[in-house]
Amino acid sequence: MSGCFCAQMAVAGCGGERQIKDALQDMAMQCSRCGLCCHKTEMMLSKADVQLLGSRGHNKNEFLHLDKQGYAKLQNRKGCCVFYDEDKSSCRVYADRPQGCHIYPVVHSEEDGIIVDELCPMKTTVTGAEMAGKGKEVIRLLKIIDREAKERTRLAYTKS
Ligand code: SF4
Ligand code: SF4
Repeated sequence: MSGCFCAQMAVAGCGGERQIKDALQDMAMQCSRCGLCCHKTEMMLSKADVQLLGSRGHNKNEFLHLDKQGYAKLQNRKGCCVFYDEDKSSCRVYADRPQGCHIYPVVHSEEDGIIVDELCPMKTTVTGAEMAGKGKEVIRLLKIIDREAKERTRLAYTKS
């Protein structure tokens, strides 16, 4: 993926998470499964994303990268997301993929706000309703992820 939420992203919490995923599924664009968004990913993760993947048996040391600003992101391996299966051209954690992967290709751009990522070849299949719904999710998710990154940074500063 080219971005993060900021051209891609990830989510949310506890009981409402499944409902949110179902709602997003209902308004889904026509993804061709080309896999472009799984290459060189900068997808950001919420604690809930990390917990969900952890609960499915994935060792966070093998998929989680914390950047210098305290943001949690998916790791890449050989140029692809660690969860991308190149042989099958598919996501190995599709049912449990991060919320940002559900929301993509709707992303947040510093310059333009909520947009559809140019990278996605199926971007024209995103409807106005999908933009509106996913746009709200992007904003909500970014607030969570920003807050969690600040908490990590503060804790690291307190310990040092
Ligand atoms: S780039 Fe677009 S069409 Fe390709 S896998 Fe990602 S969301 Fe689907
Ligand atoms: S978790 Fe799955 S959908 Fe998301 S970037 Fe990785 S391979 Fe792609």
